[in-house]
Amino acid sequence: MSHNAASPENKAAPASDAVKTVDWQDFRDHIATADQSGQRKWIYPRKVRGRFFRWRTWFSWLLLLVMFAGPFVTINGNPLLLLNIVERKFVVLGQIFWPQDMILFAIALLVCAVSIVVFTTAFGRLWCGWACPQTVMMEMVFRQIEFAIEGDAPRQRELNREPWTAEKAFKKLLKHGIFFTLSFIVGNVLLCYLIGWRELWQIITDPPARHLVGLAFMVGFALLFYGIFARFREQACTFICPYGRLQSLLVDDNTVLVAYDHKRGEKRGPLRHVQTFGQRRFAGLGDCVACNQCVAVCPTGIDIRNGAQMECVQCTACIDACDAVMDKVGNPRGLIRYASLNGIERHQRLQFTPRMAGYSVVLAALAAVLGFMLCLRSDVEATILRAPGSLFQQMPDGRFSNLYTVRLLNKTSHDMPVELKLERPPGTLQVMGVDTIVVASQKASQNSVLIELDPSVLHPGTTPLVIDVYSNGKKLEALKTAFIGPRN
Ligand code: SF4
Ligand code: SF4
Repeated sequence: MSHNAASPENKAAPASDAVKTVDWQDFRDHIATADQSGQRKWIYPRKVRGRFFRWRTWFSWLLLLVMFAGPFVTINGNPLLLLNIVERKFVVLGQIFWPQDMILFAIALLVCAVSIVVFTTAFGRLWCGWACPQTVMMEMVFRQIEFAIEGDAPRQRELNREPWTAEKAFKKLLKHGIFFTLSFIVGNVLLCYLIGWRELWQIITDPPARHLVGLAFMVGFALLFYGIFARFREQACTFICPYGRLQSLLVDDNTVLVAYDHKRGEKRGPLRHVQTFGQRRFAGLGDCVACNQCVAVCPTGIDIRNGAQMECVQCTACIDACDAVMDKVGNPRGLIRYASLNGIERHQRLQFTPRMAGYSVVLAALAAVLGFMLCLRSDVEATILRAPGSLFQQMPDGRFSNLYTVRLLNKTSHDMPVELKLERPPGTLQVMGVDTIVVASQKASQNSVLIELDPSVLHPGTTPLVIDVYSNGKKLEALKTAFIGPRN
């Protein structure tokens, strides 16, 4: 594998010079999950136990509860989260966002993105290790099932090398059966977030021929998640996830990461039985006893002692593994811990750097714009257009009339009575064909509206009009248009 840039010099170089030979001793020159022939190296992380694993387990169960219960939770009759791309309908925390709210939605996404940038600059990939659905499902659900069925890493290795026996076949069938069932459930939960659980239920209960596309998505998502959790695994984080790729841009020497204290740990060397730590120091050795337990538990197959790496998902497994070793050898915990490079080298606490200040200003500005737009956002989207092909008319009493079409979109989850009032100039407004306009929940209505004005209030040619939109006595919006009249 080469990291050569395709510079003009490189292009001009002879083929033999253009390809850099991989230095297999340099961890930055190759990935941990491929061997020298380019084949995938299957990672068998060992079981890990410790305080961080315990905290992550509790937190993961909470997240899983939220994730699986989310589609069934409603706020004001709307789902907690719905991202219906096909119908272009988005619901966040019970608030419906229509295509007309796209700018608002885009700013909300920007606020999320900049928040992630600020958070990552301060705390690195904390999200990946603790809250990313991929890590939570892979490490806390699928990996634990694998441990329960096939045993710890050495036993899994052995099992995969063994010839096929009834026991091996049973274990593999059981594991992959459970994996596929879980993947099917996860795929359906995702579908619930995309189309809503009622629609999904309809797909399940209706005759299959009526929902072929829906059924194809159900099977497709199940296969996709099965492929990810059974085979693709850590590669989703190291190859695919764009957030992981951004790390090198976002983290710096002040970012708090899962880090190995090289000042305390180096120089590494195995612990001899008769040796005290004082004697180790005298011999030029550090606290790392070179047991490799931190590497053995790593789900991405890296050695954290090499320093911060893009592949590290900050899962804390190496902290727990190393703490257990330190407990055994009678040394203080924390040889691997949450720390910044400056924290390790200069004992500096978390700094509020100019970079973080800059990101925070951008975030505050975007949040202010979002807050302002949310305050201005109306429950009803109203538009007014002159009825196509209509001109002004003079009534028998001498007044002039214009005909308009008013389109109302009810963004709420309840039916809304709407009243239109002519604000200025003085005149009459009549909604044609109905006594009261009632716009059904999440639906649009269109009404013809006749406006009559006295010649005394008309300007030559066009007169500005303001029509207020009310619901239950509350003014929601003011529509502006023009009234066409005689030029003189
Ligand atoms: S677990 Fe700790 S002591 Fe063992 S190799 Fe890793 S850093 Fe060194
Ligand atoms: S280096 Fe440590 S924190 Fe990073 S992925 Fe490996 S085990 Fe997890």
